[in-house]
Amino acid sequence: MTVELGGGEASNALRAEAAKIAAELRAAGTVPTLAIVLATEDGGARWYSRAIASAAEKVDVECRLISLSADVTEAEIAAKLEELGRDPEVHGMLMQMPLPAGVDADALAELIPAEKDIDGMTPLSMGRLLLGRPSFPPATAEAVLRLLKWHGVETAGANVVVIGRSAVVGKPLFHLLLQVDATVTVCHSKTEAVEQIASEADILVVAIGRPRFVTADFVRPGATVIDVGTNAAEDGSLVGDVDERSVDGVAGALTPVPGGVGPVTTASLLLHTAEAARALAQTA
Ligand code: NAP
Repeated sequence: MTVELGGGEASNALRAEAAKIAAELRAAGTVPTLAIVLATEDGGARWYSRAIASAAEKVDVECRLISLSADVTEAEIAAKLEELGRDPEVHGMLMQMPLPAGVDADALAELIPAEKDIDGMTPLSMGRLLLGRPSFPPATAEAVLRLLKWHGVETAGANVVVIGRSAVVGKPLFHLLLQVDATVTVCHSKTEAVEQIASEADILVVAIGRPRFVTADFVRPGATVIDVGTNAAEDGSLVGDVDERSVDGVAGALTPVPGGVGPVTTASLLLHTAEAARALAQTA
């Protein structure tokens, strides 16, 4: 039988921690505030931003949703990011993807001050993560670690295979897993024999953005499988990168989609905002 590794309890615990810090800050006169910059008509990104805003409200974190038109220029987005970076009443900043065509997302990310970089997007945050120094890691990668920890999955000495090497998931996850003493292999679209490599993993993490791509052939019997994927199915529902029916009974444990990595990611962003506000209030 495959055990379901849900993200509900872990995300509730993170939200409770965020709410506790938010209450302490408010009592001392600071309103923890997150700013989300959105410059797209993409339905998924708009839905996700509203979901973060509504989750923030529930833990008493203020959320400013800054909706720019989809034909905004790079200079205009840069000016908005710089303004938010200077604003002492803003503690966490998120630049939502996708950005308009032709806009240099990497250059814009550099405009987010590291102390407000609650999704670990900037080169400074990435560098700190690589060196094992304090930083906010990208929330999705961190959510994978938090889920494994919450469910008591041993990482020290474990053979972990990550499929996907993006800057938001695969790459930061590689470093986070090294920090908890896992032996890590990262696969990508040019990797040969991904199935065979994956099928030797104790823990398999999939973040590729291909609906139900990973089947039982990728999974060692008894392995823990973390499905980061969130893809829109033809009927409009959300499906993961793992074919849950195929791996059922083969994987020892599997995260559901939705309800696995997603809610822990959102809760991590809120906790990061509360922690950023606390750190900034202490240095003000
Ligand atoms: P991405 O930037 O498109 O990167 C996809 C990665 O998968 C790339 O490294 C790509 O390899 C690799 N890949 C694609 N097809 C492959 C294949 N057939 N075999 C092996 N590797 C393959 O995607 P992302 O932003 O990391 O997102 C991945 C998934 O996670 C998406 O479904 C996304 O919606 C989801 N996601 C979920 C959350 C959450 O909170 N739950 C957050 C972020 C993302 P190359 O580098 O060689 O191109």
